[in-house]
Amino acid sequence: MAKYKIVINAEKCKGCELCIHFCPKGVLGIDDSKTNSKGYHPASPLNEDCVGCLSCATMCPDCAVTVWAEE
Ligand code: SF4
Ligand code: SF4
Repeated sequence: MAKYKIVINAEKCKGCELCIHFCPKGVLGIDDSKTNSKGYHPASPLNEDCVGCLSCATMCPDCAVTVWAEE
């Protein structure tokens, strides 16, 4: 079964949390330990429960999320 890897471009992210709210598996959260050059705390994957639904990538207004399938 494929596993999925989420990559978030922290510099593009503005911390709007849309991807967090639309993820059905609770994979994403804001990482308060990071701040990008615009002063936002970016979203980050918190666990390995991604099912590859692409909701996060589809919802992100800044195209900051990429979902990779791993064999
Ligand atoms: S692809 Fe789906 S399950 Fe995976 S992090 Fe994005 S919204 Fe969540
Ligand atoms: S939807 Fe995009 S801009 Fe908003 S928190 Fe998620 S990755 Fe960042």
